[in-house]
Amino acid sequence: MTTLSKTNASDSNNATDLQTQTHASEQSSVNDPSLHTAPDTQAVQTLLDALTTSHGFENSQIKTDTESLEHWGKDWTKHFAPAPSAIVFPKSTEQVQTVVQLANEHGIVLKPSGGRTGLSAGAVASNGEIVISLDKMNRIGQFYPADRMVEIEAGVITEQLQQFAEDQGLYYPVDFASAGSSQIGGNIGTNAGGIKVIRYGLTRQWILGLTVVTGKGDILHLNNGMIKNATGYDLRHLFIGSEGTLGIVTHAQIKLERQPQNLTVMVLGMDEFDHVMQVLSEFQKQIDLTAFEFFDSVAVDKLMQAGHVQEPFETRTKYYALLEFEAPYEPIMDKAMATFEACMENGWVVDGVMSQSIAQAAELWKLREYISETISVFTPYKNDVSVLISHVPQFIADIEAVVTANYPDFEICWFGHIGDGNLHLNILKPEDLSKADFIAKFQTVNE
Ligand SMILES: Cc1cc2nc3c(=O)[nH]c(=O)nc-3n(C[C@H](O)[C@H](O)[C@H](O)COP(=O)(O)OP(=O)(O)OC[C@H]3O[C@@H](n4cnc5c(N)ncnc54)[C@H](O)[C@@H]3O)c2cc1C
Repeated sequence: MTTLSKTNASDSNNATDLQTQTHASEQSSVNDPSLHTAPDTQAVQTLLDALTTSHGFENSQIKTDTESLEHWGKDWTKHFAPAPSAIVFPKSTEQVQTVVQLANEHGIVLKPSGGRTGLSAGAVASNGEIVISLDKMNRIGQFYPADRMVEIEAGVITEQLQQFAEDQGLYYPVDFASAGSSQIGGNIGTNAGGIKVIRYGLTRQWILGLTVVTGKGDILHLNNGMIKNATGYDLRHLFIGSEGTLGIVTHAQIKLERQPQNLTVMVLGMDEFDHVMQVLSEFQKQIDLTAFEFFDSVAVDKLMQAGHVQEPFETRTKYYALLEFEAPYEPIMDKAMATFEACMENGWVVDGVMSQSIAQAAELWKLREYISETISVFTPYKNDVSVLISHVPQFIADIEAVVTANYPDFEICWFGHIGDGNLHLNILKPEDLSKADFIAKFQTVNE
């Protein structure tokens, strides 16, 4: 890696690929699934019987054993005990429609379920619901090279789509640490963002068409992959981000992008948060960033204690920014370097390091990607908050003041996607405090 300042001593050559993490969590707002009314168990059995006897479902498409109920009844949130009545695995849009129609007939609540990596309990079934898992609808369908579009089923894993795009010499840019487990249906349900939002936007931006089964059991084909479509309302956008409350997504037409070239990563150390924002503005004036992530020294402390990654610099700074940009041509790299130097001259940046290869870029990304997993041992109280990018410094200062005033012993760990104003606030549980006391205490901060 290239050292960007005199004081930097770190030069890791470890060529470990960035692993997609499938655990730890980055947000914690909570739906209360326990508010649903428990369904009549006889009605559930009647529905399940009807699926196999009258609607062509195989026995393997229905699970009611305890282990399966436990497994498919929960997501990454730990607040609610899973207690669904059954899990149903449809294999087609028509089968989803059948389940929805029967559920309406028998008054049973359904819970659409993707990879269950959500952190807001959206996919939790804790009160006798029937879970509709899209696990068996995971086929990649027709690819349209001229449209740079592919039709897929909702159960396709995010990483599988990324790999398909790569195999076509293209790129699917929605990416985050749970991409190895999350499904496109879940990404659409949550309008997922991630580490590339600053350049490529949220999931919504990549959806050219949807097939959904509505709560009434109608099948809707929305937008059919068109770019220009002036025939009526664009209902597709109502379903994106609606978390399965309006219907179940069964297929999607996904736009793909050209592959980025020579992605280069810089990690910069700064001592004041305002400087992080000034660095963001300065770089954005000069080059197109594909990521601008930040994390604080508490995160780096925990990473170093866990021994997961190398210390980026000899001297610790209070804040760190991870920038990524395409540098296919020399002049872009020159601009990036000139911008870095300007940031140093202005006294905003204390230290910096830049990748010289894909492996080094992956190594630097670990500094950001491993944080969730590393701090999960501290039972963090998590918040996933979004504010205007311009309001981020004041917001962080306000929160720190509240937490420090109320709980001087609590450690706060900040990280997140500054590029889109999406911050992850983590209050770490002191070792000597019980989980129950900790949860009770942070309610004040929550307010
Ligand atoms: C380590 C980690 C990092 C993460 N980072 C990010 C991040 O950077 N940005 C981000 O946005 N999220 C992030 N998440 C949260 C989560 O991964 C995303 O919200 C993801 O989109 C959820 O997809 P899923 O398939 O797991 O959905 P699930 O958790 O299964 O479901 C999420 C919601 O969508 C609904 N749903 C699922 N499938 C369908 C369907 N076919 N039709 C209709 N509704 C459906 C569910 O009912 C539920 O309400 C992260 C999670 C983890 C664990």
